[in-house]
Amino acid sequence: MKTPLIASPARTQAIINRYRLPIKKSLGQNFLTDINILEHIVQAADLTEKDNVIEIGPGIGALTEFLAQSAHQVMAFEIDDQLIPVLDDTLALYDNVTIVNEDILKANLPQLIKDNFDADRPLKLVANLPYYITTPILLSVLQSSMHFDNITVMMQKEVADRLVAVPGTKAYGSLSIAVQYRSTPEVAFTVPRTAFIPQPNVDSAIITMTDRAAFDPAPFDESVFFKFVKGCFMHRRKSFWNNLLAIFGKDADVKAQLTDVLEKVHVSPQIRSEKLTIETFILLTNTLHDEGLL
Ligand code: SAM
Repeated sequence: MKTPLIASPARTQAIINRYRLPIKKSLGQNFLTDINILEHIVQAADLTEKDNVIEIGPGIGALTEFLAQSAHQVMAFEIDDQLIPVLDDTLALYDNVTIVNEDILKANLPQLIKDNFDADRPLKLVANLPYYITTPILLSVLQSSMHFDNITVMMQKEVADRLVAVPGTKAYGSLSIAVQYRSTPEVAFTVPRTAFIPQPNVDSAIITMTDRAAFDPAPFDESVFFKFVKGCFMHRRKSFWNNLLAIFGKDADVKAQLTDVLEKVHVSPQIRSEKLTIETFILLTNTLHDEGLL
């Protein structure tokens, strides 16, 4: 690894001063300044010079520089217009980086990947995510047709805990299921708030996600499955039965049908949704569908 030019508290502060950058909290701008952590991110992503990489939110380029030094090509999406000329300067030495000045939630990522990257190379996603949109970014990536060889992303520690949570724990919910349905997430390491300028109010964690085998049986319709799971966690303090009534209504015939379904799949109405595994949610979705309720 060549000596980095961007990350370090002194260089980050100098770049902010030189360009008179207003740090935009509303865009989740917290710039990583710790070189050891950046090296660990590259290691966690298992990056090699064969890889193409998508980065979300390059900021002033601290992580982008490490990616550019380790990978074949990097495409980085930055929404903030004011950071584009800064990135042109800070990353001027790297001819394998393309900055795309777009909102990642609106960009046509599959098309841009197809147009710019050689399909034979491994494709990885590496990012220090803007925390205010961590969930929509993860869900749109995981529920798309894109295939990443691995995903290595930094997020708020509390959200990372939800991603990896197992049934029966407080942190387990619809986000755990949405992520674990498609991937195997693991916490690679945690990052203290002191590693950033400006410091966020929370600690962070790096999560790695790798593909998992598809569930068999699969839900009859994935979007119905995800919507049903979300509904089951709307009232976390209530029983599974009460969540079902909130979704399907309290009509006597519907109640009888729901009771039948629960008997068929051997799920107690008094259980809490947080105790149910992904396999049980799939079974419930498919049985409710067979009964004409979904
Ligand atoms: N990668 C840099 C680092 O590690 O120092 C900056 C990370 S900072 C946590 C998040 C970055 O995402 C900011 O640069 C912010 O402007 C950018 N961002 C926020 N919302 C975005 C969006 N919808 N699309 C693309 N970039 C976004």
